[in-house]
Amino acid sequence: MTETADILEELGPWQRPLRAQFPIIVANPELAYLDSAATAQKPRAVLEAVQHYLATSNANAGRGSYPWANATTAAVERAGDRVKEFLGDPAPDRSSVHFTSGTSEGLRTVARDWLAGLLTDGDEIVVPFADHEANLAPWLEVRELLERQGVKIRVRELPYQDSSGDYDPAALAASVGPRTRFVAATHVHHVYGVDMNVNRIRRVVGPEVPICLDAAQGVGHVPFSVAGLDVDFVVFSGHKALALPGTGAVWARGRRGPRLRPGGWAGTPNTVGIVSLAAALDWLDAAGTDRIEAWTVALAARLTDGLSQLGAYEVLGCRSSLAAGSEVQRRRSIVTFRHRAIPSRDLGFILYSHGFMVRSDGHCQAGAGDADGSVRVSLHVHNTSEEIEKLVGTLRSLQ
Ligand code: PMP
Repeated sequence: MTETADILEELGPWQRPLRAQFPIIVANPELAYLDSAATAQKPRAVLEAVQHYLATSNANAGRGSYPWANATTAAVERAGDRVKEFLGDPAPDRSSVHFTSGTSEGLRTVARDWLAGLLTDGDEIVVPFADHEANLAPWLEVRELLERQGVKIRVRELPYQDSSGDYDPAALAASVGPRTRFVAATHVHHVYGVDMNVNRIRRVVGPEVPICLDAAQGVGHVPFSVAGLDVDFVVFSGHKALALPGTGAVWARGRRGPRLRPGGWAGTPNTVGIVSLAAALDWLDAAGTDRIEAWTVALAARLTDGLSQLGAYEVLGCRSSLAAGSEVQRRRSIVTFRHRAIPSRDLGFILYSHGFMVRSDGHCQAGAGDADGSVRVSLHVHNTSEEIEKLVGTLRSLQ
């Protein structure tokens, strides 16, 4: 708790001017936006980059020979380089970036344009059954597609530990064999907020099996570097990383990349979204993703610490505290909970009546059996400890 307070106090002077750069946040001081895992608010620099682009050089990319068209083509190419740089790509000349509308379409692109052409009868793939459904449906579709062609593949579950929402690398060993051709995993769980520590999966599956990472809740929220992350695809949503909706990307490490469609899009790309993504990544780098992570993790810890004092609530996923070595060091900016008596959807409405915008449903979690779902609070740099204290106070009053 003390450590949390120290972090928040130390970073306060850095955070306040950044919060002031979000027009929608500044315009609504009575509201607390606590749903950044669904989509993130946009800083002024992103809005200005979009307006500047549309007001000065809007045209189609890769077509035409006049200055606006050339400027658009250059902006899209620059954005691809910017994505590689932001992801800490150690070999940008060997990798590729493919723009998509978001993570769902990005994962589907990897499935359809790469994985489906790789598998043969009897092959196995290992995928998560309780992460976001966007990271399950495309792999099941590959199985169906191949089955229609007379090719049978086996889809195995990437196993979880019982209580924390974390993967179970020890159990994974039993699901991996000589026919394992592919693993899909998630970077940060969108319900439990846990960093799923995908390098443990690499250690189990060995160096040759391609791994595709759903980084929707990582990129734009925490420092992210493919230099230290041994995966072959990284898929993320630009709109969760402060860019416009309809924007996202697949990064493919060189040895897998060439089989994705070259050029990155069929038809006219989302040029405005791509321009906004480059501006958002610039903004995030200038703000410092390490400090954004420290700030939001401290706020999440404050919330879980507060909730742990309130007997009426159950926090999902790992327990929270910033104590050294505790499991919670790996919780990021997402805290999901239930009230033991108030249905989650009702709790969501009640919280909005107090000015808190949270998500309250099943969060598109694959296989989520509980129709009532839960309440998810997800944070970004504009959130404050005052908002969290007010939220904990409101939750206390609802006990
Ligand atoms: N994966 C995860 C982990 C997510 O949190 C989300 C968004 N909720 C998605 C995939 C899907 O992202 P999008 O809607 O941008 O395609």
